[in-house]
Parts: sequence; C-alpha cells; structure tokens
Amino acid sequence: VRGKEEEEYIEPEIDVYIPERARLANILCYQPDGLTDDELLERRIEAVQFMVDLCDKRETVKRHRIKRTKTEPTVGSKSPDARSERRPNSDLFPLLMQVSQCPDCVGDERLSFEERTFKYSRPTVRNDHFDEQHLIEREQAQRRGEKMVCKHPTCRDLNQGHDLEFYNIDHFRAHVQEVHHITLRSSDQVHQRRLRKIRRRKMAIKQTIINGAV
Ligand SMILES: [Zn+2]
Ligand SMILES: [Zn+2]
Repeated sequence: VRGKEEEEYIEPEIDVYIPERARLANILCYQPDGLTDDELLERRIEAVQFMVDLCDKRETVKRHRIKRTKTEPTVGSKSPDARSERRPNSDLFPLLMQVSQCPDCVGDERLSFEERTFKYSRPTVRNDHFDEQHLIEREQAQRRGEKMVCKHPTCRDLNQGHDLEFYNIDHFRAHVQEVHHITLRSSDQVHQRRLRKIRRRKMAIKQTIINGAV
C-alpha cells in the first residue's frame, strides 16, 4: 500500500484544542510503523471511543469556535460589553432566562457577555452542555461538602452580592426551574443517559472488534 508517495507525504499540522479531537487526530494521522495486530486494534478501539465522545460534544465544539472568532477582532472596536457596563444586572441578565440559555455560564465573569447569554439551539442541547461542562464539577463540589450556589448576577444582587446557596444539586435544580425557568435534567434522567452512553460505547467497541476480526 505504501508506495513512492510516502516520502512526499507531509504530516498535517494538528491544531485542535478539543482534547478528544486532538487525540483522535493523533491516532488517525500518526500511525507508527511495525504495530502488532493487537496494537492496531487497540488504537481502533481508542479511536471509536473518541468518536463516540466527540458526537456527544458536537454542539460544544461549535460553541468553542464561536468563542475564538469572537475574541480576536475586538481590539479597539467598541464591544457590547463596554456599552452595556452602565446597565444594571437585572437588565443585562434578567432572572427569567431564555429556555435554552445556560444557568452556570450566565454567572461566569470570565466569559464575554455573548458567551454568558448564549442561546443553544434547543434546551436539550443546553442540557448536554450543562451536564458535560458544569454538572460533573458541581457533583465533585457536593462530594467535597461544598455548598451548591447560584452565581446568576441578579440572584447575587438580590442576595447582597453573595452567591445564593442551596443544600444540594436537586435544590439548585428546583431554584433554576422556579426562578430562571430553566429545566435541567433530573438526577434520574442524568443517570439514565450516562448508562446509555456506556452501553453505546460498549456496542461501538464490540463492533470494532467484530470488524477487525474479519
Ligand atoms: Zn454553561
Ligand atoms: Zn439563581
């Protein structure tokens, strides 16, 4: 298979910053010589795993791209953040959010105004983002015994500039539902989805092994 063209082949520069994508690109592009069948199979299984993960992340990936293009050309130009600085939080970040906004990003001061108020295409896509980007962190915080908080700017204003505190994730979910009108997935729904994801991955690996054996 490898002919004369081999010498002229220039390995593409891999410049991706989604970790799964970078790993996948590495697996697919840098195939070292002299791998055993087992090693090849291992790489294929790994590639399939990353592809499954990437499918789950597609919308988040798109969002990162928006993030990057948005931050570059604003030098010297009047950004919406500068214009909006004088407006009160309750105006910029109303308690009643759009159904597909993220209740955690809205309180993240490291993000731009657009990122904080970003609307996903559907609430379910926002929930994918939330479960992936924030829920795991929140679960870890809960296990460390830390308080669940809402950092929504208007919630903080109403609470004398402090984060609103909750007993646990479910308590936080109820607040987000009641005050911000955002429906996050329940613990049970999250659990079911995680099980499905594991099953899907197992199926994909099985399929790879079957195909590899032919
Ligand atoms: Zn978010
Ligand atoms: Zn809140």
